[in-house]
Amino acid sequence: MAHPYHHSLSSVKKWGGIVEDYLRIHNWFDESKKIIADFRHRALRHHAEGIFMVETLFGPTLTLSTGRILPTRWVGEQHVREDLGFIPSFADWVKAIRPEPWMGRAPRVQDLPVLELIAVNGGADV
Ligand SMILES: [Zn+2]
Repeated sequence: MAHPYHHSLSSVKKWGGIVEDYLRIHNWFDESKKIIADFRHRALRHHAEGIFMVETLFGPTLTLSTGRILPTRWVGEQHVREDLGFIPSFADWVKAIRPEPWMGRAPRVQDLPVLELIAVNGGADV
């Protein structure tokens, strides 16, 4: 499954309605392709937290053009399962990130704002 349109067709087959009933949710999941154009874009939203974010952004339920009401999370779960085969947690994605030194770098003294320098020096003048 690649395009939000195809995810939407799958939603129509599953719950009825029309492609436009679902397209904005499936588009939201795949908007991260703007950031990175390969499958790694999925790390941003294709996980359990992303599915709950759908509920926050689009509301807890989706009313289809047929009048049927269904949980928006169901649509998110369908999207992620179709792309990945299961619903990972964000922690699952993080496990796949190779740590780099810059990720855990403590700030250098010259990068600290003046007030933090005063605190570091015990209140002594900087
Ligand atoms: Zn996707």
